[in-house]
Amino acid sequence: MHPLRSLILAAAGNETIQHAVATAPLARSVVQRFVAGVTTDAAVRAVRGLADDGLHASLDYLGEDTGDAAAAERIVQAYLNVLDRLHAEGLAGWAEVSVKLSAVGLRLDPVLALNNAYRICAAAEQCGTTVTIDMEDHTTTDATLSALAELRRTWPWVGAVLQSYLRRTENDVAALAVPGSRVRLCKGAYAEPPEVAFEGRHDVDLSYVRCANALLEGGGYPMFATHDPRLVSVVAERARWFGRKRGGYEFQMLYGIRPDEQRKLAEEGETVRVYVPYGEQWYGYLMRRLAERPANLAFFLRALVSRS
Ligand SMILES: Cc1cc2nc3c(=O)[nH]c(=O)nc-3n(C[C@H](O)[C@H](O)[C@H](O)COP(=O)(O)OP(=O)(O)OC[C@H]3O[C@@H](n4cnc5c(N)ncnc54)[C@H](O)[C@@H]3O)c2cc1C
Repeated sequence: MHPLRSLILAAAGNETIQHAVATAPLARSVVQRFVAGVTTDAAVRAVRGLADDGLHASLDYLGEDTGDAAAAERIVQAYLNVLDRLHAEGLAGWAEVSVKLSAVGLRLDPVLALNNAYRICAAAEQCGTTVTIDMEDHTTTDATLSALAELRRTWPWVGAVLQSYLRRTENDVAALAVPGSRVRLCKGAYAEPPEVAFEGRHDVDLSYVRCANALLEGGGYPMFATHDPRLVSVVAERARWFGRKRGGYEFQMLYGIRPDEQRKLAEEGETVRVYVPYGEQWYGYLMRRLAERPANLAFFLRALVSRS
């Protein structure tokens, strides 16, 4: 892994740096580039704005590695609130939610996390939308995939996420590329050891293409989460090769990243979903976005030291 990337990912767990970022004069405006806001209102506003441009959304109430059951409950309540609002405002057809199991208690108690995820899925079904279970670091992959299998016994539409940087992922794709299965394919955002993950970008990209082929060939609904222009065009070409009609798969990108490309793909007739993070706990999320792209770091540091 690039040393700068490792350094930024280490800063993601550092409370002193977090405090400095949270109290810096311009931090909020920088955060706003990647995070829709802290409230349900802000999240719903972002969904409406995207829908006006023909873009779907997946809302992520920020939080991870929740340390106690009460905090996990607050996160569940935030999801239930936003689902109600999406339904009430006629936006459930435009937005689903993405949930991290560690946010709803995975590290405290896997049964608690599963129950909490159940409650969110039940609410989503009532509101007429879906849930995707985000994938976190490799120590949680097995637990996340077994929770997913459990949730899918009741709600087959629950979305999975697989990361092409993991060596195991081609096998996981083979298991999940089945009819009715919604699978998001991304490169992966965590610092992982070489025993479990490919180290070179090229190997991660090749793995992405192999997994994309398997998903397109299979009977499920693939969701290609990447901003990488080369991968977007390879996937579009492979989709045509496999006879996939538009709407039989989708592209996904993050809020604030390549927004022009998001709109362009939608105008061309592709289904595009934007992952929209919101909530108070934006720090870990922001650090991962900075680690992905040193150019973002320069932009961010300038804002951090600015007094105006
Ligand atoms: C919808 C969605 C959901 C995701 N869910 C998960 C998940 O559940 N688990 C997980 O581990 N990871 C998740 N990720 C993150 C993902 O794993 C990658 O870390 C992230 O998408 C960057 O990889 P990339 O494919 O965009 O390619 P990269 O190789 O990182 O980037 C390719 C190009 O995209 C542009 N770009 C990429 N990142 C940025 C940026 N931050 N700012 C500006 N431009 C940029 C640049 O032009 C860059 O050259 C998700 C990503 C998306 C889009």
